Amino acid sequence: MSNSENNLWISTIASGSSGNSSIIGDLSGNNILIDCGISCKRIVEGLNELSVGVEDIKGIFITHEHTDHINGLMMLMKKYKIPVFASLGTLLAITKCRGFDNSYKKIMHKIYANCAFDLNGFEVNCFNIPHDAAEPLGFSFIKNGTKVSVCTDFGMVTDEIEEGLRGSNAMVVEANHDERMLEAGRYPFQLKRRILGDKGHISNENSGKLITKIWNENMQHIFLGHLSEDNNMPELALETVRCELFMKHKNYEEYTKISVANRNNISEKVVIKSPII
Ligand SMILES: [Zn+2]
Ligand SMILES: [Zn+2]
Repeated sequence: MSNSENNLWISTIASGSSGNSSIIGDLSGNNILIDCGISCKRIVEGLNELSVGVEDIKGIFITHEHTDHINGLMMLMKKYKIPVFASLGTLLAITKCRGFDNSYKKIMHKIYANCAFDLNGFEVNCFNIPHDAAEPLGFSFIKNGTKVSVCTDFGMVTDEIEEGLRGSNAMVVEANHDERMLEAGRYPFQLKRRILGDKGHISNENSGKLITKIWNENMQHIFLGHLSEDNNMPELALETVRCELFMKHKNYEEYTKISVANRNNISEKVVIKSPII
């Protein structure tokens, strides 16, 4: 039995190297944006499609300063003055980006890995992730006993990532590339090396291994995110992760749905059933 008023929901507005933005909300109009790597206009359009007003975004959490995660940030800060939360390293990097204005500093808030805090009833947790950015973070949000997480842009799986994601009822997790497609593909050697490196991006196979390791029967939905356009295909990412999970947890489909986050438009709005609390 669950109390539907306590449900959280999750969706994505864009996902991939051309822009990332995920959204988590409760059913009382408290919503949180994680990254805003597409234009402010497209984010507002995506929010409208999800029936969320931009004034109902209580905070924007930034994983790191790469353009595909902050493209619309300056305009969102300028027009809507939504509070922004990120690590010190990420905040400092943002201050050096084009379009930054010193007046934005008063809505920017420094947060620390492994130091939980409260935002509108959400317990916010963040954890370090290995990626070639200043001080990148993954996030999880807990409300009414439901945990929802977002973790993309990491080159390898660490204990901290496993701990950060463990117990999630839903999550967006990266499945960036198929290693064989990347190795055989047209990218220059240096770029291939960067992506495959410990601070690059995670392959479908390693994403599947991570999911398999932390999976339990309470995990209701997984969005595979940040797929490479050149070195991956949605069906391949899904199939690889499903195979990994199936090998260890034959009955996972009874409990968990896996889908690929859409690259250029919103994904389905997934309501997560709240456990008894
Ligand atoms: Zn990145
Ligand atoms: Zn990225």
